[in-house]
Amino acid sequence: MEVDSKPSERSPARPGKELRTVAEIAPVWDRFREGEVVFCPRDQGPMALAVDAAAGAYRFVCTCCGNATPWFESGAGGMRIRGGFGYGAGSQVSED
Ligand SMILES: [Zn+2]
Repeated sequence: MEVDSKPSERSPARPGKELRTVAEIAPVWDRFREGEVVFCPRDQGPMALAVDAAAGAYRFVCTCCGNATPWFESGAGGMRIRGGFGYGAGSQVSED
């Protein structure tokens, strides 16, 4: 018996999945900033932008099913996912 299939392989631009990573959210964010409506990958509902002004963070939330991206920042240095929900994104825990 041989089981070597990994549950989650990271290949970009796979349709029909949720927006979880910078690679997935960045193109959506770009379209949004160009004035386009962006749609939920789950049910194609329109996604609204939620803004946490205090934290300087954003996220997209589907107005139909509530599907949401993680909070992210978008600044001069590019996009960065906030929080640490299993991304292994690094050790940017503390701010100085
Ligand atoms: Zn949705």
